[in-house]
Amino acid sequence: MTQRIGFIGLGIMGQAMAANILKAGYPLTVYNRTAEKAEALRNAGALVADRPSLVTDASDVIILMLTGQEAVDAVLHGDEGVLSGECKGKIVINMSTVPANCSIDWASQLAEHGATLIDAPVSGSKVPAQQGTLVILAGGPEELIQAQEPLLLSMGKKVIHCGPVGSGSSMKLSINLLLGIMMEGMAEALHLAESSGIATETLIDAVASGPLACTLFQLKEEMFKTGNYPPQFPFKHMAKDMQFVVAAAAENGAYLPLGSELAKLFSPTADAALMDQDFAAVKKVLEKG
Ligand code: NAP
Repeated sequence: MTQRIGFIGLGIMGQAMAANILKAGYPLTVYNRTAEKAEALRNAGALVADRPSLVTDASDVIILMLTGQEAVDAVLHGDEGVLSGECKGKIVINMSTVPANCSIDWASQLAEHGATLIDAPVSGSKVPAQQGTLVILAGGPEELIQAQEPLLLSMGKKVIHCGPVGSGSSMKLSINLLLGIMMEGMAEALHLAESSGIATETLIDAVASGPLACTLFQLKEEMFKTGNYPPQFPFKHMAKDMQFVVAAAAENGAYLPLGSELAKLFSPTADAALMDQDFAAVKKVLEKG
């Protein structure tokens, strides 16, 4: 029997991921706090619920793609939240980026309601979400993740089983630490080159033509050339994630000299105008001095 899928959180990533689930032929029920964002999916054939508990009732697997910890808590535990629906035997896949300890806590709370959690955050941004080429970093029981692989592969090109529940979230923080370091490194290289009188395009060409070429820099090329940073992965999300990185490092006793510095640049208290721009706008922080 085809699994019925629920999807909660239709932001930059969720809209595209839910659309790919629908395209793969799964019956889909969606919910978003701001109702208008569900209209495109309704037009494409999804059912639209007006509260999370109805998504639970209508689905075998409920996917969450929300801002972070507070949003997931609100959607799970709020009035008419996921947990007030018919949960028994259901699977919740949280694909939002959160600290590992949240995933572990939610797994026990769901278990009390007869449901199972997989934490499955993603590597990849708006374009891979649209193209269905995300890399999915999954934590939870291996057989369950294997059974959900066809669904996960409707949104991504690869599922990596990272270990027990919580390990997908841990992996995602390591990936985002590297992502932040690479982006900030490119921004600094550009900033230094420009301060030496070298054209932005020339530095970008030199990087793209040699061993440092990578998809990430290619995806941000236009932003650096134009100085406009429309959000693919918003600055505010990287700022949120860097705080999780620093907290995880403190908890695990991991020494992260660059990570600690990066958390100051990608800071939730940085210029408010940056927050809704792409995280590549970290270059503006350097330019401001
Ligand atoms: P987004 O565009 O900001 O969307 C956030 C979603 O969460 C929206 O649907 C929003 O609803 C919902 N939400 C926030 N607070 C809520 C609350 N209290 N109750 C109910 N719903 C709430 O974010 P995104 O870029 O899609 O990212 C989603 C997650 O994926 C984040 O954890 C992010 O770190 C991670 N991620 C993002 C990217 C990326 O490139 N964008 C890449 C990898 C991972 P409204 O529409 O009502 O505001």
